[in-house]
Amino acid sequence: MLTAADQALVDGVLGESGANQRRAIAKAITLLESTRPEHRARADEVLNALLPASGGSLRLGISGVPGVGKSTFIEALGLFLIERGHRVAVLAVDPSSSISGGSILGDKTRMERLSVQPQAYIRPSPASGTLGGVAEKTRESMRVCEAAGYDVVIVETVGVGQSETAVAAMTDLFVLLQLPNAGDDLQTIKRGVTELADIVLVNKADLDADAATRAQAQITSTLRLVGRRGRAPNDGGQGAWQPAVLQASALAGVGLDEFWQAVERFRQTAGAGERLAARRHEQDQAWMWERIDAGLKARFREHPAVRAALPECIEQVRAGRMAASVAARRLLDLFH
Ligand code: GDP
Repeated sequence: MLTAADQALVDGVLGESGANQRRAIAKAITLLESTRPEHRARADEVLNALLPASGGSLRLGISGVPGVGKSTFIEALGLFLIERGHRVAVLAVDPSSSISGGSILGDKTRMERLSVQPQAYIRPSPASGTLGGVAEKTRESMRVCEAAGYDVVIVETVGVGQSETAVAAMTDLFVLLQLPNAGDDLQTIKRGVTELADIVLVNKADLDADAATRAQAQITSTLRLVGRRGRAPNDGGQGAWQPAVLQASALAGVGLDEFWQAVERFRQTAGAGERLAARRHEQDQAWMWERIDAGLKARFREHPAVRAALPECIEQVRAGRMAASVAARRLLDLFH
């Protein structure tokens, strides 16, 4: 049951856009990000109340190494979209923020021009320990923004690795920004591109037009060579999607039109209708099981009998007196 105050929060998020709505969104997300158990129970109610109104936006994941131009690009794209009548929310997944104390993605000075737009909402990465925790909160925040009527939700993350996989698993379309230097580690490109990216954008094309064109050609041919096993359906039918490889200069605002055309093409084919529904359904299922796994593990570690027996089991395994698998079974047997 929603409390009266939380119902007001839900109404605020679903209400008219403006200062009140922004405050309600911020409060709702703060509630979702809280780690206190009584907040979590309330947050679950709020999330469920907002769920029916969510799901209507384009979920866009954007990634690339630090310095490639993500925030510059997102700001330019955000302004471009707002001009065309969209409302844009920007969220971030940066698990390093809780470790380093400072966020690569979340500092306040970024996207100054976009952040003052009434049609934009920018939220830095939640600072929670694990990637799973950060990703969970971002997924939930995404729903709040959708329910509030942001029709484009951008989720930004950094690097090639687990956080990218997590963001790809919560978005409809995943964009990888690349630098135009051909010296980039091709292995990294291959892995990142073939497994995740629906669009590859060679940014900073203004710095060296030839290098950008070379990089574009190189990535395109790599993709052809390797083929696509990735996220979008590639059944050779109508919805097959060959990742688009484009150039841009985020700083100069060049290439946004082409980029958005590619996004629209994607939305009309691989990211449309039942295919989109199937992808999101799969994502939700995978997410549910991922969270069950994480939750079970946490409960297992907290279980009194397990906690009591754990040190001895670890010692036995260390001393070579018990096989690890036997120790695991014994501990699992204690967990009811
Ligand atoms: P992020 O770390 O990926 O978010 O990268 P930033 O957006 O902060 O950009 C890093 C630096 O690259 C900044 O100094 C930007 O001004 C610059 N930059 C971003 N995009 C471009 C571009 O298209 N051309 C040029 N020349 N510089 C760019």
